[in-house]
Amino acid sequence: MSTPIVRVSGLHKTYVSEKGDHVALSGVSFEVERGEVVAIVGPSGAGKTTVLRIIAGLLEPSAGRAEVAGQLVNGEPPKEVGFVFQDYSRSLLPWLSVLGNVTFPLRSKGLPRPEAVARAREALDAVGLGGRERAHPRELSGGMQQRVAIARAIAYEPELLLMDEPFASVDAQTRMDLEDLVLPLRDRFGVTIVFVTHDVDEAVYLSDRVVVLTPPPSVVSRIVDVPLPQPREQHATKSDPRFAQLRGEVLDLVRAPALVKGA
Ligand code: ADP
Ligand code: MG
Repeated sequence: MSTPIVRVSGLHKTYVSEKGDHVALSGVSFEVERGEVVAIVGPSGAGKTTVLRIIAGLLEPSAGRAEVAGQLVNGEPPKEVGFVFQDYSRSLLPWLSVLGNVTFPLRSKGLPRPEAVARAREALDAVGLGGRERAHPRELSGGMQQRVAIARAIAYEPELLLMDEPFASVDAQTRMDLEDLVLPLRDRFGVTIVFVTHDVDEAVYLSDRVVVLTPPPSVVSRIVDVPLPQPREQHATKSDPRFAQLRGEVLDLVRAPALVKGA
């Protein structure tokens, strides 16, 4: 079998502050194979963002290791990685056009302008923003701004796309539209996707596997396989009895510790 694109083993993270130490992760381990879509779910504060930032090279673990494409992540973002943050309003550069935002990282890595523009146009087309290249972020709705952020990440042609609650700040209809944008990206660009969500329906709907974290100090409570047929479709997939069964299974795992604590 080929090297997994992501391997995290025994990740520990303790945040140190004046108010005392907070143990966020206490030994998180899992792997992601190339071409997979994997969701990380868990209650708020479970350390989902922490795990993603460690894989992205934006944060050092206190112990344990993260590898991307067989290489130890060590102090800087691996070249294979693209990142989509939850807060689109802070992730786009307001003084640049849509096209400028998407070409910016490509130009920074030395791509000639014609090639950067061609790639940006293809990515914007893939997220349904063909024709809006000259608009500025403030002229776009939240959902459209998040599409720009997704296009920017995709145009970079990452092998691994990390997304932190990418659809959490938009309305329900836009959220479904964005969810349905993501799966074809895997087929069109061959990208592996790891995304964080606290929404169990979204996790099951989009992914091949769901990594469930416990409340902090967090470990992996279980990894649930999602063998639902592809392509997924909002209505058909969500009315499949196997969807309901998987959703129930993940929901129980996410809620169980809280229920036990509250008992
Ligand atoms: P999630 O994304 O699952 O909601 P996070 O990874 O953001 O969880 O955070 C996990 C825990 O670590 C939370 O309790 C959070 O308050 C704490 N935490 C996150 N970042 C910091 C920080 N920079 N300093 C101190 N505590 C932090
Ligand atoms: Mg988070």
